[in-house]
Amino acid sequence: MSNKVHLGHTARKRFGQNFLTNESIISRIVGAIAPDNDHVMVEIGPGLGALTEPVAESIDQLTVVELDRDLVERLESHPFLKDKLRIHQGDAMQFDFSQLRQDGKKMKVFGNLPYNISTPLMFHLFEFAKDIATMHFMLQKEVVLRLSANPGTKAYGKLTVMAQYYCQVVPVLEVPPTAFAPPPKVDSAVVRLLPYEEKPWPCDDVEVLRHLCTTAFNMRRKTLRNNLKTLLSDEDFASLDIDSSLRPEQISVPQYVAMANLLCKKQAQI
Ligand code: SAM
Repeated sequence: MSNKVHLGHTARKRFGQNFLTNESIISRIVGAIAPDNDHVMVEIGPGLGALTEPVAESIDQLTVVELDRDLVERLESHPFLKDKLRIHQGDAMQFDFSQLRQDGKKMKVFGNLPYNISTPLMFHLFEFAKDIATMHFMLQKEVVLRLSANPGTKAYGKLTVMAQYYCQVVPVLEVPPTAFAPPPKVDSAVVRLLPYEEKPWPCDDVEVLRHLCTTAFNMRRKTLRNNLKTLLSDEDFASLDIDSSLRPEQISVPQYVAMANLLCKKQAQI
């Protein structure tokens, strides 16, 4: 049998389907997620239920968002899961997660994400950060390194700044390709994202921060002054005590937020 067929389902590449099969890794991930009834538990991409089954075992209800109609059908008729699941068939990138918050309970969101959309999906979820207590995601290891990077390193970039603006980032475990069927071409890792209750460096307009980061990291080998010359002047950098001759990856998250807030002020004056 081809290794693309797992539990009678042919894995669909376009949906990023790599199903977890390693029991010890599955139980470590479930331990990290720490399912409970005090949160609204939400899984993105339950697939064939590798995480869904052990998570659902210890709780009353689990909400899942799954794009693949065939997999949704299987979940709907699953002997043990069907009574516990609230199934939303559709694209998690378009999904309004705020509708899931109930009785003041925050969400715990988790998933072995389709790697082809994991970054835009995380950006989408950051919009709901205030309703989310924890997120646990299986990602490409390289993406986990970017999320958790420190300034001054190669992995530090726009994704780092945006993720660390919203969340505390904690790498949890590394996962080899052999833990999946079919095995992905890259190494994977699980990350824990903990959205801040109170942001340590609040930004007046997160869209401005996002635009600033895109522009700043546009050319990583150029200086900050060069990349941001259409947005900030030498006087602006001086007023923030930021050395604009540095490279974009040498600038900390609070410094990016300070630049974004100054930009907001300048735009308000126009
Ligand atoms: N959770 C399962 C596991 O660990 O074995 C499956 C993980 S597989 C990497 C990704 C899952 O996300 C698949 O079930 C796939 O159909 C689903 N998926 C892909 N794109 C999606 C999207 N845009 N919205 C929701 N689910 C999606």
